[in-house]
Amino acid sequence: MLDVAKIRSDFPLLAREVYGRPLVYLDNAATTQKPRCVIDAIADAYTTVNANVHRGVHRLSQEATDRHEAARDTVRRYLGAASAAEILFTRGTTESINLLATSFGEAFCHEGDEIIVSEMEHHSNIVPWQLLGQRRGTVLRVIPVTDDGRLDMEAFQCLFTPRTRLVSVAHISNVLGTVNPVEEVIRIAHAHGVPVAIDGAQSAPHIPVDVRALGCDFYAFSAHKVYGPTGVGVLYGRERWLEQMPPYQGGGEMIGHVRFSGTTWNELPYKFEAGTPDFIGTIATARALDYVCALGLPAIAAHEQSLVRRALDGLGTLPDVHIYGQPSSLISFNLGDAHPADVGILLDHQGVAVRTGHHCAQPLMERLGIPGTVRVSFALYNTEADVDAFLAALRRTAQML
Ligand code: PMP
Repeated sequence: MLDVAKIRSDFPLLAREVYGRPLVYLDNAATTQKPRCVIDAIADAYTTVNANVHRGVHRLSQEATDRHEAARDTVRRYLGAASAAEILFTRGTTESINLLATSFGEAFCHEGDEIIVSEMEHHSNIVPWQLLGQRRGTVLRVIPVTDDGRLDMEAFQCLFTPRTRLVSVAHISNVLGTVNPVEEVIRIAHAHGVPVAIDGAQSAPHIPVDVRALGCDFYAFSAHKVYGPTGVGVLYGRERWLEQMPPYQGGGEMIGHVRFSGTTWNELPYKFEAGTPDFIGTIATARALDYVCALGLPAIAAHEQSLVRRALDGLGTLPDVHIYGQPSSLISFNLGDAHPADVGILLDHQGVAVRTGHHCAQPLMERLGIPGTVRVSFALYNTEADVDAFLAALRRTAQML
């Protein structure tokens, strides 16, 4: 059991009001609020160890490097990866997948080769593959989504051809909440000799992830959705793939030796980390992951699921609520024919922050035949009182509309 009252006192922003009402923050799938220890870690790193990493012989630079590399090891442990060489720091999930599409594509994809994604992907797991298609002539094959918001696993099995190079799917849908059967996806893909990338943006904050137990080849997530700072992301990649992939960007850090006659690359993970990394951000990210681990992901998941059950029970008592997919840490719904943006604005004026719109998943909206949804998404600091305030505000909204 989480001591949520105590936890809430760790998050200064939760104390603020909007429109003179206490803030009910239910947009956690977009970004999470930060505990004081993460905010302090940023100030502390700037105050005590700010110096460029990997470069200086001086003491300060060595300390900054040690803290940055310790943060990499914290991420390694968080994901259960075998080696810190498999943990690449990026700016976020989006950059992680762009790195993958660019570099994996360059190494392994040719005209007519195929990448499998699903109909429920976030744009950041679609568009980088379309850009690859424009450069290399690769083709996207799409796993359909069933009416109840799951991956159509039978159709998935039929998508493999000798030209399939990679499967890239979300662990948890940011719209449907569906927890995809990624173990089965990986088993099927590997049986065809095809590697699998997991978009973990919505799983890293909510469920324990062990990349070795899963057996995935790549896994991406964003620190800002796991109570960490903006501007830091992670791409886990198995060493045997990363070794074969070319650098994503060129510059300092990623080189072995630079000559005009030809340049060699640094070892992993630095080959993929051109330029000064956001070492203040990585240090703060490690603090956020430590915070989550101290509470325990199983306890966090149990707490969030009980809030979701309470919200679903309440939504069930309202007429004309349509719920999409398989709610887990988030619920997507529409209220009759009301436009989701109208619902969102009316909730906002009652102090309840939710997300509305297409959630960067326009192909999924097309599949569902709707312009968008209202999404409430939960975090470890949300309370039953938050759920009840949301339901009361939604009831008033329904009356107004
Ligand atoms: N994938 C999924 C499933 C997401 O929910 C998000 C964020 N909404 C992203 C990718 C992109 O994450 P970021 O904007 O942090 O790069």
